[in-house]
Amino acid sequence: PELERTAPVRHRPALSYELFPARSDVSFERLRETIRHLEATAPDYVSVTSRAGHGNFARVLEVTEHVLAETALRPLVHLTSIGSTRAQLTTIIHALLDRGVRGILALRGDQPEGHRLEDDEIPFARPLVELIREIERERTATLAGGRVSIGVAAYPHRHPESATTSHDTEVLVAKERAGADFAITQVFFDASAYCRLLERAQTAGIRLPLVPGFVPATNPRRLERLAEMSGVEAPRDLLHQLEIASDDVERRRIGVRFTVDLARRVLDAGAPGLHLFTFNSHGDALDVLDHLDLDRWSTTQGETR
Ligand code: FAD
Repeated sequence: PELERTAPVRHRPALSYELFPARSDVSFERLRETIRHLEATAPDYVSVTSRAGHGNFARVLEVTEHVLAETALRPLVHLTSIGSTRAQLTTIIHALLDRGVRGILALRGDQPEGHRLEDDEIPFARPLVELIREIERERTATLAGGRVSIGVAAYPHRHPESATTSHDTEVLVAKERAGADFAITQVFFDASAYCRLLERAQTAGIRLPLVPGFVPATNPRRLERLAEMSGVEAPRDLLHQLEIASDDVERRRIGVRFTVDLARRVLDAGAPGLHLFTFNSHGDALDVLDHLDLDRWSTTQGETR
């Protein structure tokens, strides 16, 4: 029979938020409230960070189970390989799939200083992607057709342990070949850094959507901590403006304006969506979205059924 044409469908750029697991029952209550506010913007998923070694896995499961049971959202659980054996990671992957998780961000994890690899440890993200795909294949029957969506990390600025950005590109190619579906970037504060990453990826034949990661740049202390962890420095001028702002309202105005401007530039350059690091507070993230008006970058596609 002839396919019936439906009205064209508008596709908004992808939208996701990053949360970290609660550290106490009180902060879990606050986190539930944050999730409730974020859910109102209909994100494609919310991601849940995890610590290398998975010492806080029970807390990761707590928020993941809450998202699955109490909201209409899809969780993307960060899974770090460093500090865990292959056997431990296998158990964790099964535990996530058993609960209905179908999105995993496969990461190596931040390497603790002086870390020495154990025999059975998975040293990089690529073999972790392979392990997830292997387990998915073994469990095809129990996944009821629900394919696992695997994300990986990508770097607009060279990863601090890589000698060159070309090496980073080779690593990203390897992660795609191992079965990754998309990548989320490390923070950056200059749209041209993201555009150069897109160019390098295109030249290398990478097809993964590269979703830019943003921190609402409203808190100078947080930006400094982030620089220590990621090696990516916020612009001095921005830090200075935040430092001399008269109060939190003014700081928020400056930080949100900077973030919205950056997000607009990368969306104009073809970014497939936005991933916002929320630090478990919805205010700044929602303010960024309000000012951005994501619908401006929606694409219209005819659809048939
Ligand atoms: P990889 O892709 O394995 O790369 C790590 C380093 O090893 C790079 O320098 C790479 O060039 C090099 N390398 C890779 N493969 C090889 C190889 N075969 N031979 C030689 N060198 C190689 N960390 C956490 O602990 N918890 C989190 O929840 C978390 N969430 C994150 C979310 C996002 C969006 C991003 C961008 C990062 C996140 N991180 C998190 C930080 C991340 O774990 C670190 O950046 C880590 O240093 C690298 O992780 P990766 O998955 O990119 O590692």
